[in-house]
Amino acid sequence: MGEPRRSFLARVAPELVRLAEAEPEREVCGFIVAAEDGGLEVLPVPNVAGDAHARTRFELDPAAHLALFRRLRLEGRRPVALYHSHVEGGADLSPVDRERMVLDGVPVLPGVDPVVIAMRSGKAEEVRMFTWNTRIYSLREAWTPIPGGEVESGVPGAKSKAT
Ligand SMILES: [Zn+2]
Repeated sequence: MGEPRRSFLARVAPELVRLAEAEPEREVCGFIVAAEDGGLEVLPVPNVAGDAHARTRFELDPAAHLALFRRLRLEGRRPVALYHSHVEGGADLSPVDRERMVLDGVPVLPGVDPVVIAMRSGKAEEVRMFTWNTRIYSLREAWTPIPGGEVESGVPGAKSKAT
């Protein structure tokens, strides 16, 4: 298993930003999946929250969710993060997010870290990843597109550290 040269979010955030900006009036959601060799893939799941609610909440399509998890098990891959966008709002987990992700003091999806894409006026401003920290989800990593529109595709200087 090779050591990843770039941070987790540097590897997936450009794709998350693309997906969120393609549906700026709805929260988008889905999973980030790891292969055994460490490769990451972003797999969207439809948000089936009704049109009246989709700006402020997400509901994973239950059938798509189940089919995805079955497929991943067959392929020997596993979900490592659950992402969703905030149409107008910060990159923090909302109180509702935190309430839904924890049951009786433990994560509903252990080992699947939440990722939030913060949007404003249809453009992604920041992506944050959180991780379970004994009792709560706390910030693990933050990523921002380069100001001016172009999305950063890697961490400056990462290549020079590669072996
Ligand atoms: Zn949220």
